[in-house]
Amino acid sequence: MRNVIIIGSGCAGNTAAIYAARANLKPLVVIGHEPGGQLSITTLVENFPGFPEGIEGPELVENMKKQAEVFGAEYVHGTVEETDLSKRPFRLKIDGEWHETMTLIIASGASARWLGLPSEQKLIGRGVSSCATCDGAFYRERKVMVIGGGDSAMEEANFLTRFASEVTLVHRREQFRASKIMLDRARGNPKIKFLPSTVVEEVHDLAKNEVTGVRLRNLESGKVWDQEVEGFFVAIGHIPNTKPFKGQIDLDHDGYIVSHGGARTNIKGVFHAGDVQDRAYRQAITAAGAGCMAAIEAERFLEAEGH
Ligand code: NAP
Repeated sequence: MRNVIIIGSGCAGNTAAIYAARANLKPLVVIGHEPGGQLSITTLVENFPGFPEGIEGPELVENMKKQAEVFGAEYVHGTVEETDLSKRPFRLKIDGEWHETMTLIIASGASARWLGLPSEQKLIGRGVSSCATCDGAFYRERKVMVIGGGDSAMEEANFLTRFASEVTLVHRREQFRASKIMLDRARGNPKIKFLPSTVVEEVHDLAKNEVTGVRLRNLESGKVWDQEVEGFFVAIGHIPNTKPFKGQIDLDHDGYIVSHGGARTNIKGVFHAGDVQDRAYRQAITAAGAGCMAAIEAERFLEAEGH
């Protein structure tokens, strides 16, 4: 029986682990299917306080994990398949094995959203990617495409110009969701070409099992055409990882956990931290802060229950 199990090993989960471990709760952290969360697939992080020169995302998150381990946090590889949160102790099935815990911190984050085209899905890892920082270096002097109109798309497009000869940014509307500073930066980059009001109809070429181009459609003119690219980067947002909690924890219409104040969910003893609940800020520092809050709430909850 655990005092606290923390699901997720990103910024939120690791910070919760540091606080819970320092409170002597001996937390178990379930690493999940994306170890280290989104920081692990980022390059330089320039806005995490305390690092005037910036710090590489994977290094930052690994340091957090080490810091939690110093105080006795345990990490286990695996993903949560099923949960029973109807009574305490809560039960979690992790890679086939059931675990029991008095409190639970859900810091399972959010995963990349895809367009959902069959051709896109079949070519993931063969030219289709959701992570420019992971795969960008494969496209030196090649033509690539980025899909999306938010900050992620601008960031990915800018990053890809370090390698690619040309980056085409395709967005389904004329207006962009991205912040002005990010949009201006992308617009000012001579390697980035903008294709607004345009959607992707298909990614070629399934027969060759690699990306050779895409079929595009302009929504205003109706024009349909093929464009050659070798890399296809989808940056259209994220989906919260809440599947194992569906029907037990209050989720909103997009699947994000609904907060019941502070780090509390609708179930006493179950707390949330980070992007799994936060659709507004989604920053490393806000996730870390949320992890801290969740651990403090878990500690107070256990104390109030006499543990
Ligand atoms: P986002 O702001 O939700 O933007 C998603 C974009 O993808 C939107 O432009 C959306 O189009 C488009 N989209 C969604 N579904 C689509 C579909 N099925 N087909 C085509 N296009 C689709 O997501 P995000 O860019 O990942 O940003 C998420 C949050 O992280 C934001 O708060 C952002 O500010 C923050 N962020 C910050 C930074 C930074 O400051 N360095 C970097 C990255 C992200 P519509 O606009 O038409 O809906």
